[in-house]
Amino acid sequence: MPEKALSTQSILTAGALSVGFEQTPDGIRVQSLLDRSTDCEFLSASPLPLFTLKLRHCETKEEIQLDAGSGWGQVAIEHTAGGAELSWQQAKVAGMRVVVRLTTDDEASALRWSLRVDNRNPEWSVWRVVFPQVAVTELGPGTKVFFPRAPGEVQTGLWQREFHHQGLYPEPWTTMQFMAAYDEQRKTGLYVALHDPNASAKDISVASSPEERTVIFTFDHPAEDMGVGGNDFALSGEAIWQLLRGDWFDAALIYRSWLRREARWFPELGREGREDTPQWMRELPVWTQAWGDRAQVVAKVKAFAEYMDVPVGFHWYSWHQIPFDNDYPHYFPVTEGFAEGVRELQQAGIYVMPYINGRLWDMHDRGVEDYQFTSVALPAATKDEQGQPYEERYGSKEADGSPVRFAVMCPVTELWQDRIRSICLRLFDEYHVDGVYIDQISAMSPKLCFDTTHGHPLGGGHWWVEGYWAMLQAIRDAMPEGAMLTSECNSEPFARWFDGYLTWTWQHDGQVPAFMAVYGGAIQMFGRAYGGGETKSLALRMKAGQQLVFGEQIGWIGPEIINEGESAAFLRQVVRLRWRLRRYFAAGEMCRLPRLEGEIPTVRADWQWRENWWVTTDAVMTGAWRLPTENKLVLMFVNVSDSPVSAQFHFDGRQYGVESQQVRVTILDQESTLDTFVAPNAFDRELKLPPGTAYAWEVCSMR
Ligand SMILES: [Zn+2]
Repeated sequence: MPEKALSTQSILTAGALSVGFEQTPDGIRVQSLLDRSTDCEFLSASPLPLFTLKLRHCETKEEIQLDAGSGWGQVAIEHTAGGAELSWQQAKVAGMRVVVRLTTDDEASALRWSLRVDNRNPEWSVWRVVFPQVAVTELGPGTKVFFPRAPGEVQTGLWQREFHHQGLYPEPWTTMQFMAAYDEQRKTGLYVALHDPNASAKDISVASSPEERTVIFTFDHPAEDMGVGGNDFALSGEAIWQLLRGDWFDAALIYRSWLRREARWFPELGREGREDTPQWMRELPVWTQAWGDRAQVVAKVKAFAEYMDVPVGFHWYSWHQIPFDNDYPHYFPVTEGFAEGVRELQQAGIYVMPYINGRLWDMHDRGVEDYQFTSVALPAATKDEQGQPYEERYGSKEADGSPVRFAVMCPVTELWQDRIRSICLRLFDEYHVDGVYIDQISAMSPKLCFDTTHGHPLGGGHWWVEGYWAMLQAIRDAMPEGAMLTSECNSEPFARWFDGYLTWTWQHDGQVPAFMAVYGGAIQMFGRAYGGGETKSLALRMKAGQQLVFGEQIGWIGPEIINEGESAAFLRQVVRLRWRLRRYFAAGEMCRLPRLEGEIPTVRADWQWRENWWVTTDAVMTGAWRLPTENKLVLMFVNVSDSPVSAQFHFDGRQYGVESQQVRVTILDQESTLDTFVAPNAFDRELKLPPGTAYAWEVCSMR
């Protein structure tokens, strides 16, 4: 009773969103998060603390936690012109003060949060800060959750089943910094994001608790100089809780609009899209990959290009004499005939991109011998708290049968920056390759490096990505005109320095092209992994069809595919259609996916990402891209199944920014124009889609 009597409530509003706080003598709790126009409460009945601090004693390594809800000697909520300032001090660890500033954005119905920890205690270090975290209640039976695995993924029913997804951003399963929960029936939802323009390391997680009917969204930040007494913490960027009307696509647009304004890694876009990416790369329709020396690869890659009859990208693995995943980074000398092979391929209209790894140094880097690891590399390797290099293994073996052990190199060090730069420039200048694929940079989480000689803050922060930014900028400044760089997977914060990202991890049921909605036209995507197995031809059609509508460059498939009759023909069809539509993907942006009406059949195949990896999609894949400066858009429809499908389609031009009274629609396939008609801005049409076919509607405004 006394505690209740002493508590006070306060409510702040931001447009249609409101947040309620309960202030007690020893803490502040978030009590309510309400969509005022639909009267929908987002917060679970058992809400989480707004923040949790994890502190560590510098000598004893004892760890304790402080949270916003209780345990403070003094707390305050002060209303300010644009929102409120909340503060906490006098905890059981002396000298800790936390200040949270909340800005209310009426226009966006958004709450924007910053957080700062002032640590005046030299014996204790701020180790990690969990902020913000929110437990969302089930909004309705069909409530969906979006989270940023690979291209983005939507899951339904998480309130009824166990689910947990977590990753140390940036990495392939946590590629962007936003999530959402939304209910399309009730037309409400919550956008939860960190708008951090520096791409600091942070654990981003979504976890369900079916007993409590909640889904919890959390951002957990390793602190800069973790382990150093008296270190302060300031949230990099702002945390956002924003009302979401719509679905994952609308959430992606909120994120994109922030990125374009503030993110340090978002590429500059001109009228023709990404103008610092060579035109051939912006337009390239297909990739093939093969392993070995000139004699092993050149003839079959040329045969692939001849069959496709369009420009082809070739990802060349094992062009070096060292074995794959062994003796890195000593990629030279090259295998016999490499230079001639590159030239011969280029003469056949093929763009050549050799593989290197951008992160690893083999600890036994000349066969079983420690050649330069200890003497040259070790000082620049990432180190754990004990000063030991972080080690990784990938299944490759040394000549004596022992596993190859790699150290992860620290990207901030001059040694590593110079090494990767000189390897790339040698490939460009001596061998005249068109691009270099630098493996792992956009595929692996930051290592929390504790080496005090590297000059970066220890552990957390944004020094990791900045190290790579400096490395990659130096390569771009020196590489020849027309050259380009790519990397593995699609963690976002390197987008400005790479021209392409590999999509081989895009393998999940329920994946949606949120990454393309955000980055379409800003970076080219390629590289689905095409597996084998009994359903491989259906799996191929599903992946190639999805690549087309997602706006990816098609493939990264072995050149032998051209011998596989129908699969080869389908692939060729999709590749050639993409080639016809290439300007949309080079200079345009993705639009909301066209939605077909009625019952669309589904298809299911084993995508073989791992064993028994079954993925279900609609039999008809759809996509839409537009050229914003030209009032033109293209809708794509691909029936990937082996049966005909009929469906009703309602076209509404305003959905794509087409304002004219009438539109001209040209229906085309990979080779020819099938039909042209003029229609009002909104109309219905029945689509009849034969099995295994792709076609497109090009829609132009009419004055
Ligand atoms: Zn380091």
